[in-house]
Amino acid sequence: MGLLDGKKALILGVANKRSIAWGIATAFQREGAELAFSYAMERLRENVEELVATLPGHEKMPLIECDVTKEEAIAALFADIEKRWGSLDVLVHSIAFAPIEELKGSFTNISRNGLLSAIDISAYSLVSLTRAAVPLFEKSGGGSVMSLTFNAAERVVPSYNVMAIAKASLEAETRYLAADLGGKNIRVNTISAGPLKTLAASAVKGISAARDLWEAKSPLRRNVTQEEIGNVAVFLASDWSRSITGATLFADNGMNIMGTME
Ligand code: NAD
Repeated sequence: MGLLDGKKALILGVANKRSIAWGIATAFQREGAELAFSYAMERLRENVEELVATLPGHEKMPLIECDVTKEEAIAALFADIEKRWGSLDVLVHSIAFAPIEELKGSFTNISRNGLLSAIDISAYSLVSLTRAAVPLFEKSGGGSVMSLTFNAAERVVPSYNVMAIAKASLEAETRYLAADLGGKNIRVNTISAGPLKTLAASAVKGISAARDLWEAKSPLRRNVTQEEIGNVAVFLASDWSRSITGATLFADNGMNIMGTME
């Protein structure tokens, strides 16, 4: 028996096999969830299709394009899910983007457009997607929404710049959505993950150095893995976390508790 037997989960943000969303998808499948995927653009379709084809039962898994900057694409995504499934239990937002030139250099020089685009794609999309998911969650008697954040929202991490502000927005949205939707038994949480080598992370200058730092200085003296983040996501999707909402859950091998490091 799996922890997610009978749960229907829509996962946004698989780009390739290193994506955190892929780690979540494989953990969800192991625990018995029914899966649907959404990818950002046509260019990614083949890659995502090939990955999904490695999962048992993949023939039944909806695979739908959705650029989250487009409200009509979000509406079409949920209309499609409603047609196929009728209801939804879990929504995974594993999406971030910022123009690459905004992820280096001095914070003081970030541009208005760079910041707005990072917030639009990486943070506002959580509100849009959650709003569209509410009617489907209601048909299930509730739901669990989760996203991915990084502790650069609270602490200063060089180069994270506009994405730090987007993550601060995402974490605040998590609390506001949780307060708004708790009465409908919809929970909203975010996982603050340690650094992983993914496409999105490679845009941030210094990701390898961050991983070295985690190995040397985090309380658990190692880096987090895709599988570990997947397992935290399973917990948040499952009924075992039914008392948790509005939380930023650290899955970072304890790094967030550390002060200055010698
Ligand atoms: P990734 O590049 O595999 O995933 C990012 C995803 O965002 C991609 O699938 C991309 O297609 C999608 N995306 C970008 N613009 C989009 C749009 N307009 N519409 C729809 N989708 C869009 O990298 P990842 O590291 O797996 O990132 C997933 C999440 O995890 C992000 O929120 C990221 O900030 C967060 N995170 C990553 C790390 C890390 O070190 N990798 C640490 C903490 C949090």
